[in-house]
Amino acid sequence: MDVDAIVIGAGFAGLRALHTFREQGQSVVVLEAADGIGGVWYFNQYPGARCDVESFDYSYRFSPELEQEWRWSERYATQPEILRYINHVADRFDLRRDIELDTRVASARFDEASSRWRVTADDGRVWTARRVILAMGQLSAPKDTTYPGQESFAGQIIYSARWPKTEPDFAGKRVAIIGTGSSGVQMTPVIARKAAQLTVFQRTANYSIPAANAPVSDEEDQAVKAGYRQRRDSARNSPSGLGFVPDTRSAVDVPADEREAAYEAAWNRLGFGFALTFKDILLNQASNDTASEFIRRKIAAQVDDPALREKLIPKDFPFGTRRPSVDSGYFAAFNRDNVALVDISETPIEAFTPAGICTGGTEYPFDIIIYATGFDAFTGSLLKPEVIGRGGVSLREKWAAGPVSFLGIGVHGFPNLFIIVGPGSPSLLSNVLLSSEEQIDWLSELFAYCDAHGFDSIEATEQAERSWVAHVNDRAQETLYPKTPSYYLGAEMPNKPRVFMPYSGGVRGYRRILEKTAALGYEGLTLRMTEHRVDA
Ligand code: FAD
Ligand code: NAP
Repeated sequence: MDVDAIVIGAGFAGLRALHTFREQGQSVVVLEAADGIGGVWYFNQYPGARCDVESFDYSYRFSPELEQEWRWSERYATQPEILRYINHVADRFDLRRDIELDTRVASARFDEASSRWRVTADDGRVWTARRVILAMGQLSAPKDTTYPGQESFAGQIIYSARWPKTEPDFAGKRVAIIGTGSSGVQMTPVIARKAAQLTVFQRTANYSIPAANAPVSDEEDQAVKAGYRQRRDSARNSPSGLGFVPDTRSAVDVPADEREAAYEAAWNRLGFGFALTFKDILLNQASNDTASEFIRRKIAAQVDDPALREKLIPKDFPFGTRRPSVDSGYFAAFNRDNVALVDISETPIEAFTPAGICTGGTEYPFDIIIYATGFDAFTGSLLKPEVIGRGGVSLREKWAAGPVSFLGIGVHGFPNLFIIVGPGSPSLLSNVLLSSEEQIDWLSELFAYCDAHGFDSIEATEQAERSWVAHVNDRAQETLYPKTPSYYLGAEMPNKPRVFMPYSGGVRGYRRILEKTAALGYEGLTLRMTEHRVDA
């Protein structure tokens, strides 16, 4: 089948790409490995899963009618509600007819003779197109963590990002959670209420801010809907796409009592936006210390047992340099009689046994073990298929020392191939949905411009790519992020290149660069008419 554009992935980004490019008059097909749409929100169906960007902001902006008709029930919607929303969007905009489910892309190869991409599924089906859009997610390749003896375990093993469709029955069960990132933090209090016994295996204690979740009242719903355009504009003009603009002062220049009051207010309402209380929390160590110390005190106040408290307080890295969690009762869950913590930085997991998990010579018996150990972030899903550009060079080879791109969108040597919210873009340092819509809108203008001018080949120049990678690194060096091993730096996987993955210059700064690039006639991209034009 030959189309104008093949979109790989039917998460938030792929669906928006389908809608927008189709509205533009392009023929589009979306290829999706799963048997349902929704990406992250299809796979991560664990108890307690919900967004940590407010739903009014973590939702599509492209349709004012959709904004008005959808009613969010909570400030931070649960995974089922988000998945309902995604399915509503698919029906409302008649997207399903162009989506091929159960279709895992095995390869995408650029054919220089025809200037077209040939995309092959793992069952051998083939599509061709002049454009390919990789909307394969930043967190869609879960780590397949295993421990010795795992196959002997007699109970059930579950990976949080491949949650079973039949909900496990936790009642009366002894449950283990391995991993205390956002997934582990979200599921802990919920499973604690259901299970007979819950043991959390923690390797690194992390900072977490209360979600301050609440039902959305009719008044709030009406107020947001009446001012939705301004709300979207505020989000686009805020550093992370959350709508908050930080206090423009340095945290250390503010009198201590005023700073404390600002943190207190942020703690009680802002969730993830706590990091934006002052302009330099993620830029200046002394400023960060004030925020980190505040959070440590807040965590301490939630945990009754002094020994447990010590283990749960993050110590060795600045707040925000690993993705902080936003929780609903995580720390307080450890005050329950049926919840225990094993610090595997002190006593690493040695092996699984038929009965459970062995650490430090002790065997803990379980009925269910949950891995909440995260993802091969940013590049995991992009590098799984064989993506071959000009001259037979693969994306894996090109990115062997870390991802390189122009604007996070285009890669030299890979004409007419575009990446949505991948490395080199604000991606996971932002409201990801907003960032994907920003890129898709920019791409649709680029495509319209090229079609109007008869350009059928779009490719990042080598020079533009080099400059962009240098700029991404320079911006990262201005921050505290490089101080801490995290998935922002590729530290979550052994043997992954240690380079800073996302763009830390903020969504507003990034958008301005996109706009400037367009205003300069797409400087940094080679736009040309090839001799192979089929429509010429
Ligand atoms: P995804 O939703 O990951 O979709 C990618 C799709 O591509 C998947 O369906 C996958 O199956 C498909 N795919 C991949 N490889 C192939 C292939 N080879 N062939 C065919 N199909 C393929 N971000 C926020 O901003 N706010 C939040 O509150 C938030 N909460 C999150 C909660 C969880 C539990 C997780 C895991 C992530 C969260 N994120 C959040 C980040 C999240 O990744 C993005 O917000 C967003 O959902 C990503 O959408 P996407 O379409 O880019 O990618
Ligand atoms: P994560 O943040 O990467 O956390 C993984 C956890 O597992 C960490 O505590 C890690 O410890 C631990 N771990 C990894 N490998 C391990 C091993 N072999 N043995 C023991 N422990 C191991 O993953 P995640 O919690 O799935 O979250 C990933 C991202 O998804 C988040 O950062 C966020 O962007 C998004 N997310 C958002 C929400 C939300 O609130 N909306 C919810 C879930 C996920 P170390 O830190 O020591 O490596």
